[in-house]
Amino acid sequence: MEERQKILIVEDEDVNRRIVKKILADQYDILEAENGAVAWEMISEEESNVDAILLDIVMPEMNGYAFLERIRKASMTELPVIVMTGEADNETEQKVLNAGAWDFITKPYNARVLRSRLRNAIARRQVSVYEKMQKMAAHDPLTGLHNRGRMFEKTRQMVDAHPDKTFLFLRIDIDNFSLYNAAFGEEEGDRLLCFLAQFFEQLAKEYELITFGRMNADIFCACVEYSGKRNEIQEAVDKVQQKLAEYSKNYLLEISVGIYQIDDPSLSVEEFYQRASIGTQKCKRQFGKHIGYYDEAYRKQAERDLQITNEMKNALEKKQFVVYLQPKFDLTENCACGAEALVRWKHPERGLIPPGEFIPVFEKNGFIAQLDYYVWENTCQMIKKWVDEGKNPFPVSINISRISLYNPKLVEILTGLVERYQIDYGLLQLEVTESAYMTNPELMQNTIHLLRNAGFVILMDDFGSGYSSLNTLKDIEVDILKLDMKFLPKSGAVEKGEIILASMIKMASWLGMPVVAEGVETRQQRDFLEGVGCEYVQGYFYSRPIPQAEYEAKYIYGEA
Ligand code: C2E
Ligand code: CA
Ligand code: CA
Repeated sequence: MEERQKILIVEDEDVNRRIVKKILADQYDILEAENGAVAWEMISEEESNVDAILLDIVMPEMNGYAFLERIRKASMTELPVIVMTGEADNETEQKVLNAGAWDFITKPYNARVLRSRLRNAIARRQVSVYEKMQKMAAHDPLTGLHNRGRMFEKTRQMVDAHPDKTFLFLRIDIDNFSLYNAAFGEEEGDRLLCFLAQFFEQLAKEYELITFGRMNADIFCACVEYSGKRNEIQEAVDKVQQKLAEYSKNYLLEISVGIYQIDDPSLSVEEFYQRASIGTQKCKRQFGKHIGYYDEAYRKQAERDLQITNEMKNALEKKQFVVYLQPKFDLTENCACGAEALVRWKHPERGLIPPGEFIPVFEKNGFIAQLDYYVWENTCQMIKKWVDEGKNPFPVSINISRISLYNPKLVEILTGLVERYQIDYGLLQLEVTESAYMTNPELMQNTIHLLRNAGFVILMDDFGSGYSSLNTLKDIEVDILKLDMKFLPKSGAVEKGEIILASMIKMASWLGMPVVAEGVETRQQRDFLEGVGCEYVQGYFYSRPIPQAEYEAKYIYGEA
């Protein structure tokens, strides 16, 4: 039979004790004390294992408040005490709870209320005792390694005991562990973790100063004295990697190790861990790269990226993104012939932010699709305005990010815009980047085919930056190539670069494809391009990207 729980009633009036006892006796074992002092004696000397106390306030010798004070001083606060008071006012209630009571009940007693308050208090206690025990337990039940709490504690002690030494804090996890679990079952997943844990234990024997443990799931941590040689760390990680390859021959198991070199031992171990985690992000999902060192620059970057993500939606709503235009020039005619729409972020505090800072973040978090649409629509509005004013504007090209290119609705969206703003298809050109082709050639081929059929002119952006540039040409029907001067070697191999550039331009002309050279910064470059038969140019040598009003003044209404 299960042991009954014990309740101690502390109350000076005999009759009251008897009433309470009568309510509870069928469920609990009852102990009684006629004042605080007697009660204190009972719970402190006897291993009475009292489960809860019902406490009166007004008593001789030691009253309820004094008793609560004793309990608090003895750090016995996980023992539930419910105060029984005659007064039901808020003030008494507050005073009693402040003194450390778990709950209270007012006289005369209602049997149901008393029982349920008592039951709740005891349940709450069991949960808190259980949590405390969990915390105190030092070992991870699965692998037998130290758990997070103990590992952190040991690390703190070790680092503090050796202020003259440098330590590394490592965070190790298995890439795609959840996939492994799903493929082979949880039991096998556990087996893998135990295998790894054993190997860590073995490896740890080679180090004099080391702590290690398992945090949760597939995450392990170690803190080890640093010899100053990064290749030693690399060797150890290679060993683990090799062991894993032996363990699982038909499933690629890879680990990621984030490392923080503890250059600030005053930080908490939790912060060591956070920094090592930031290091991990540097090697995640990069084939063959297993170690990422935390560095300050990377942390700042991660922080900036986060800030950008937090602010982006609001920025779009507040119309902080503005479209600049960079004119393109016809080399032979020596005049402007078009423009590229390039977005900028007019940040209320940080000023004008160039797209290089936020586009990569938006590409990662998917927001680029919304920004793309915003830029496209703004560009359509500009063109419509010029046409409505009776002008004859040059075509403007917009950038189609990779994510947008993969949107099955892309053709619909773009034709929708052109129809809504009633502009000529020839006036809105589309720049697609070559790198999208590498990821998914068929999809890109398909989409471009549909876009051209709809009437759009397609420019292949950043041509020559990828590996398969020449190959792509025969597969994709684009109208114009954009060659970026920045992809040419800067120094030394200038000649070689020029030969490549010249032959690409020549080849494009054989295919009947016009070329826009972008990133043209110097007269030399311009002259060279003219010499090899390049027709169109874009770059700082001619003009930087400029605000709409300036573009209009110069190239729509103006003198150019
Ligand atoms: P991109 O499409 O290759 O655009 C050309 C970039 O080269 C622009 O940088 C332009 O300002 C810069 N540039 C132009 N002439 C010169 C020059 O003579 N020298 C140098 N060093 N640079 C020159 P920007 O505006 O900073 O844009 C960077 C990239 O951000 C763009 O490269 C494009 O990939 C992306 N981007 C810009 N606006 C948008 C947009 O509205 N949507 C999307 N999806 N991407 C955009
Ligand atoms: Ca572009
Ligand atoms: Ca480009």
